[in-house]
Amino acid sequence: TGNQYSKTPCPGSNGNKSSHNNKIFNRWGWTDKMSLNIQQSIKNARKIVVKIGSNTLAKEDGTQNTEFMANFAAQCASLINQGKQIILVSSGAQVAGVSTVNGWARKKDVHYRQALCSIGQVELMHQWRKAFQNQNLHIGQLLLTKDDFENEHRSLNIRNTLFTLVDEGVVPIINENDSVSFDEIKIGDNDNLSALTAILWSADTLVLFSDIDGIYTDNPKTNSNAKLIEKVDSVEDLRKNIVIGETNSFGTGGIETKIQAAQKVTEYGIEMILANGSRQNALTALLECDSRGTLFSVKN
Ligand code: GLU
Repeated sequence: TGNQYSKTPCPGSNGNKSSHNNKIFNRWGWTDKMSLNIQQSIKNARKIVVKIGSNTLAKEDGTQNTEFMANFAAQCASLINQGKQIILVSSGAQVAGVSTVNGWARKKDVHYRQALCSIGQVELMHQWRKAFQNQNLHIGQLLLTKDDFENEHRSLNIRNTLFTLVDEGVVPIINENDSVSFDEIKIGDNDNLSALTAILWSADTLVLFSDIDGIYTDNPKTNSNAKLIEKVDSVEDLRKNIVIGETNSFGTGGIETKIQAAQKVTEYGIEMILANGSRQNALTALLECDSRGTLFSVKN
């Protein structure tokens, strides 16, 4: 296709399909019973929810990383051209608000926080719109709260809206409605929001882009012996075996909310990939054999 993001096949990746016993027949035809790795998971997926964290969207000084956004939109376009469907869950409203209104950064008052998000959300979508416009793609915005997922009528409406947008080739971009949410109706972090979205839309795979490569046995920033866990078959077993640290600079989540997201989606048969968003062409790189990250697999 001459596509600049065309995928590199893994050596021998087609060669190991020796016996039929290892395969199941699903909507993609004969495939391996269990996704072997990240590359396989993303290759098999048609409906993909991608979550991008605040630390990936903002530069170190807190300003928006517009270069990343432009490049990311190009990668989305590439996957869409390959027949995949994408919903984005984008964080970064609060940090965009802070960088827009200088001087409010230290205001901890909840109304200021919510005001910052209302300012930042516009900035965020302004940049996403520019990025996707360059790819000739329209975007649609949905700002949701926990309530929306719990109310049957609302969630059905959201589901139908998402299906309509995606069917028409529009890329929906979702965030929590931070200016409206308060503790009781708040999801609180976009890892869980993207998990709920993936379930509502019946996605095949959820991709969480973070500023870490995946789940480690311990905090890699403080323990040089920490090892990347490439595949998780049981979230419960994982919890027993790793040290879960604190959240980091701009985001609200941390490892705990990523594991919660994995627990949620895998129960619904949706695989989850946790990978580093700052890697070169992070999204399309998942299709390559050296893709690095943690795959939360689903048992068939
Ligand atoms: N909704 C928040 C924002 O856009 C981000 C929540 C999160 O970091 O998980 O600023």
